[in-house]
Amino acid sequence: MEIQNSQYQLSDGINPLDLCEQYDAPLYVYDSAIIQRQFHRLNNAFNVKDLKINYACKALTNVNILRLMRQMGAGLDTVSIQELKLGLRAGFEPQNIIFTPNCVSLEEIEQAKSYGVKINIDNLSILEQFGDKYPDYPVCIRINPHIMAGGNAKISVGHIDSKFGISFHQLPHVKRIVESTGMQVEGIHMHTGSDIYDVELFLNGADILLNVAKEFPDLKYIDFGSGFKVPYKPNDISTDIEEFGQRITERFNTFCQNYGRDLTLMFEPGKFLVSESGYFFVKVNVVKQTISNLFAGVDSGLNHLIRPMFYDAYHKIVNVSRPEGRKRIYTVVGYVCETDTFGINRKITEIQEGDILCFYNAGAYCFSMASNYNSRYRPAEVLVHEGKAYLIRERETMEDLLRGQVELGIFEKISTTEPVNS
Ligand SMILES: *Cc1c(COP(=O)(O)O)cnc(C)c1O
Repeated sequence: MEIQNSQYQLSDGINPLDLCEQYDAPLYVYDSAIIQRQFHRLNNAFNVKDLKINYACKALTNVNILRLMRQMGAGLDTVSIQELKLGLRAGFEPQNIIFTPNCVSLEEIEQAKSYGVKINIDNLSILEQFGDKYPDYPVCIRINPHIMAGGNAKISVGHIDSKFGISFHQLPHVKRIVESTGMQVEGIHMHTGSDIYDVELFLNGADILLNVAKEFPDLKYIDFGSGFKVPYKPNDISTDIEEFGQRITERFNTFCQNYGRDLTLMFEPGKFLVSESGYFFVKVNVVKQTISNLFAGVDSGLNHLIRPMFYDAYHKIVNVSRPEGRKRIYTVVGYVCETDTFGINRKITEIQEGDILCFYNAGAYCFSMASNYNSRYRPAEVLVHEGKAYLIRERETMEDLLRGQVELGIFEKISTTEPVNS
């Protein structure tokens, strides 16, 4: 359901150039049909009695996306008290929200608890303190199975050096804390990071987790986290969800049989659900031939889409304004005043200044990681849903940049934001 190569229609027949005309570039556009497709794919991949998919909302937190997720039947995985509040605002029942923070204070966890959400604890110190204070409030425990999933150190969180989770080698101490506080453990969890290409490795982690789980008699769910990889490049490897689903299903059902009860199988995907639904449209300001490079400089930068600079992420780039014609090799760069490269050596149909380029896979960790660096406004967001395009976030304004700033009276205050000669 790509933007089609010849006429660049979004899946609902909406022309992105019209959207850029109406809302101006740079512009984020999300296609709900793709989110729905991914959700149903995941839902159908597992053949278990009880399955719950919790959307890891840090990937894309627009409240309309959260409402769409809720409407489809997803729960919510949150990593901050603010995400939790957004989830409540979007109408999620507290019991359908799980709070999975890392290195947050006991106070923040207590605040989450006061809303009645599921609490996932990822270190022994907090486990001990929480258990002492609230032995009657059931918790989930995040286990680190020490597997190195994924190809990128910045997004791999399950290995031995990682700050996430409680090592499965510490199980004896976990049990000691649980027994001495009398706290209840209702869930066991792992999340080993993004971009798992190796299903075998993930299954090794799952086996370790199930081994831990059998030590806790009062479980309601086992949460295998996420990390499903989606394609970014043409012919990219991606997690084979159907194969993965089959193999986890076997293990999980066998586990439940031995455990003596059916538990809920949980996952918490972010990228898998929203990455491919997003497109980021930018306008080319300058085409610049230097001695060694042909640059296309666009009206955006790492302030709006940081993944290429931060993770070396590849985002496919096409020239939406010029679908046909000769291709040339470009380095696409942003307007931020430091090295700000979106893509090197990209074959793109010949670009003229003013053309609209589209970045693919702009649903996950794109807008949600955007900043105001260089004092630029964050872009608008549009949701295409059932044949209509809706503005779901306005482009920022000067007011937004100044909001919260305290302008002191101790400095001479001569201010205008109007051009001098207007
Ligand atoms: C970020 C995160 C996820 C989502 O990871 P994806 O690779 O986007 O699917 C899931 N669980 C936790 C705890 C996370 O922090």
